Amino acid sequence: MNCYDVIVIGGGLLGCFAARNLMRYKLKTALLERREDLCTGISRANTAIVYSGYDMKPGTLKAKMCVKAAQEFGTLCAELGVRYSPCGSIMVCFGPRGAQTLRQKYEQGLESGVRGIKLLSPQEVLQLEPNISPQVVLGLYTPDTGTVIPWELGIAAAENALQNGADILLNTEVRDIVPLENGFQINCGSQTFETRGIINCAGLFAAEILEKVSSPKVRIYPSGGDYLILDTKAGGHISHVIFHEPEHKDKGLTLVPTVDGNILIGPSEVPVEEKNFFATTGEGLTALRSLVSEVIPSLPLEHLIRSFGAVRPNPFWVHQDPLSGRYVPEDKGISSFTILESTPRPFLSLIGIKTPGLTCANELGSYVAEKMAALLGNIPSNPDFNPQRPAPLRLNDLSWAERAKIIKRNPLYGQIVCRCRKISEGEIIDSIRRQPGAVTVDGVKRRTGSGTGRCQGSFCTQKIIEILAREHGCSPAEIHKDNKGSYLICKEGGSQC
Ligand SMILES: Cc1cc2nc3c(=O)[nH]c(=O)nc-3n(C[C@H](O)[C@H](O)[C@H](O)COP(=O)(O)OP(=O)(O)OC[C@H]3O[C@@H](n4cnc5c(N)ncnc54)[C@H](O)[C@@H]3O)c2cc1C
Repeated sequence: MNCYDVIVIGGGLLGCFAARNLMRYKLKTALLERREDLCTGISRANTAIVYSGYDMKPGTLKAKMCVKAAQEFGTLCAELGVRYSPCGSIMVCFGPRGAQTLRQKYEQGLESGVRGIKLLSPQEVLQLEPNISPQVVLGLYTPDTGTVIPWELGIAAAENALQNGADILLNTEVRDIVPLENGFQINCGSQTFETRGIINCAGLFAAEILEKVSSPKVRIYPSGGDYLILDTKAGGHISHVIFHEPEHKDKGLTLVPTVDGNILIGPSEVPVEEKNFFATTGEGLTALRSLVSEVIPSLPLEHLIRSFGAVRPNPFWVHQDPLSGRYVPEDKGISSFTILESTPRPFLSLIGIKTPGLTCANELGSYVAEKMAALLGNIPSNPDFNPQRPAPLRLNDLSWAERAKIIKRNPLYGQIVCRCRKISEGEIIDSIRRQPGAVTVDGVKRRTGSGTGRCQGSFCTQKIIEILAREHGCSPAEIHKDNKGSYLICKEGGSQC
């Protein structure tokens, strides 16, 4: 039997940061993730923005956490060796309704303590962002908005948790939870765990986990969103995150100059039935293109290199219908951060955490870790906790002289595998050997950025499969692109592909 003080369920951004922050206390901790890698759910497909906090109602937990997180994000990323682009943002509008909303957000921002927030005249907007449509009527600027690579951040937090003594267990799906006198037994198929406390960070499936120990109170309903990514050739078209406040009460547009120099556009808002529906929709992509032509008409959409779909976890309180006995949602969804505490044993659930969950991942992790330490009986802090995670070697960040020295020591750092992003074989091997390391092609992508450039892996995927197979001592035919069943190569005479 594996015994822990705390088990975190789910290895998305929130689970990784919960585990990291639990290590600040003397708590034997494990993170259980059902997939083969971390950050493959909501944390994989989102807008990658660090929000400054003017969007949230002042005084709420969400607003307080967001403002603090944005102001400290550079420090967090430096600690974790994660790239961060503090590019600032401009919200733009094209009519009176939008202008009124921007003024309200400005007031909210001032009240919440958002630093450097200011309204911009159309001329000031165009000075900062000359490609915005000249029809712009008002802008709202904040310097504390930024952009980060979400999975790079989540994986770094998990690595830091592991370096501080946490166990990160992949391919470990929580199937059942049995309350014990002093905690819980968690059944994951062939493995069983005992723990005094649970932090439920199962993302879209957090309500299902909660229902294993209590009757339904809240449920998560999915909705979809589509994104477009433009090649770095279009990257110089904007230099700030651009938020578009629409004139009518429909979905606006967001454009992000990413850390790697691409432009991310989205998300749309589309209905979906399935929680695992990470596909794009024609309807959503068309809506994005049409909004782009209003906000930045000159944006070169011919440099489109990828589209992807995201799923929003929309939480609703539910009640039991007396006639059918079924649980039905209230009319209005929950907009606050929902952190439920189940009694009598320590069980905390982060339910349907949407935007700004990425921004606040460390704050939320710290909040639940502190609460769990108190619930377990004033657990002392861990004097040996080290918040620093050594960054992986990134040759692109080094001078030519520094690269030459490294290549001399190990020529594999001179073998470029991903030509678009200039990622070497040495860096790919590092991503596989680090703990928790990459086991799939997408796992290598999440750790190194390989395959995210203009050719989208057309040239490097085969080589990455070979390296993965060599490092894991298996046949290339056994290497997956992503989750189970996503084989890339057919076995000779076999049906697998
Ligand atoms: C479209 C969209 C855009 C967003 N944009 C932004 C943004 O720009 N800025 C921002 O601050 N926030 C943003 N967010 C919010 C942010 O992305 C989320 O708050 C965050 O990623 C949620 O992470 P999570 O860990 O809760 O969920 P997930 O990443 O989904 O992780 C949950 C994990 O639990 C695992 N799991 C589920 N069931 C089990 C089980 N039974 N056993 C073991 N493991 C299990 C899953 O496999 C998964 O890995 C956005 C969200 C969406 C949907």
